[in-house]
Amino acid sequence: MHGLSRDDCERLDREDPLSVWRARFELPSGVIYLDGNSLGALPVGTRQRLDELVRVQWGEDLIRSWNGNDWIGMPRRIGAKIARLIGACDDEVVAADSTSVNLFKLLAAALRLRPGRKVIVSERTNFPTDLYIIEGLIELLGQGHELRLVHAGELCDALDETVAVLVLTQVDYRSGRLHDLATLTRQAQAKGILTLWDLSHSAGAMPIELNAAGVDMAVGCGYKYLNGGPGAPAYLFIARRHQRMAPPAIAGWMGHAVPFAFAPDYRPAAGIERHLVGTPPVLGLAALEVGVDLLLGADLRLVREKSRQLGDLCLRLVEQECAAFGFERASPHDSARRGSQVAVRHPQGYAIVQALIAEGVIGDFRAPDLLRFGLAPLYLRYVDIWEAVAALRRVMASRSWDRPEFKRKATVT
Ligand SMILES: *Cc1c(COP(=O)(O)O)cnc(C)c1O
Repeated sequence: MHGLSRDDCERLDREDPLSVWRARFELPSGVIYLDGNSLGALPVGTRQRLDELVRVQWGEDLIRSWNGNDWIGMPRRIGAKIARLIGACDDEVVAADSTSVNLFKLLAAALRLRPGRKVIVSERTNFPTDLYIIEGLIELLGQGHELRLVHAGELCDALDETVAVLVLTQVDYRSGRLHDLATLTRQAQAKGILTLWDLSHSAGAMPIELNAAGVDMAVGCGYKYLNGGPGAPAYLFIARRHQRMAPPAIAGWMGHAVPFAFAPDYRPAAGIERHLVGTPPVLGLAALEVGVDLLLGADLRLVREKSRQLGDLCLRLVEQECAAFGFERASPHDSARRGSQVAVRHPQGYAIVQALIAEGVIGDFRAPDLLRFGLAPLYLRYVDIWEAVAALRRVMASRSWDRPEFKRKATVT
């Protein structure tokens, strides 16, 4: 097998049916952005939408905008759009709060739906906030719940009749390993266990079919592949069959059946709205809506196909160009078992990532030794992967990473 060349990458770009999408994003020149899994790029329409919102809707229409510009309907409206990205119905999703807070709300609801069961199963390598939220809720409830953490391969064995909820993230934030959502959901349900999936690292990068798989609940993030902007509101999904069962864990006025009756007694809304808490963050929701609208126009099957190819290309090029430098693949080799990111290990990972950023290639580092590259298919070219690996090779060959300024740890890695 002969090696891959830059020409091969250019040919892939010429044949790429998604190549037109890159122009829908504002990307800085001289930068190759491999961090769209952590903060999605800026869609072209966002600037104008926010400008109009601030100048006209806030500046001139003022409080009339809650009705006149339907600010009050944003959590439902945007939720309904996100529903189409994840295989849900439009009354099963709302945009609200952060992923962490939504996980808290839904886990609390799920535990109330399984009062006799005391075990929550999750994965040892799950995203830390997910584990902290579970532990924190267990302590707050004080009802003797227990978090059972297992490795991915042991999940099926861990599912028995004592388990109330299985809480998993579909794509592992470090390795990019992709869970089989449908099979795990089926195995859990066969034991009467509710499933609560975190879609933060998968939604927007691949087709997801929550209802076809029978998923009970899900949460996800607005600022990653949905391109909603820094700290964008997150979303939550509850299958219709559960919506009337559990009262909300945080009974705020926006979840009241009639918020503007200003009644002293709480009465939850009938549907998914009961999981809204406070006043919607309108600026953040508007930016999120632009990102979601953009994605709704893209064919997620093509996005997934390109994402797999970008990942294969990246891993192959690192092997081909950087074999001498001691990198070790940390992502699944088979793209069918991988999300839209790849990771390699190196003991000097942190410094290497900083040196790469100085070269204009933005990836990130995840402790203890992972270099992580997010692959957002709508705005990345195959030739970007070529250039990124070429930069990695330069950084390694010149040992430019071996400078004190690249070893100083910043707050955000
Ligand atoms: C990004 C991410 C989060 C982020 O949660 P926030 O509340 O928005 O900070 C949570 N869980 C997973 C799996 C993530 O990838």
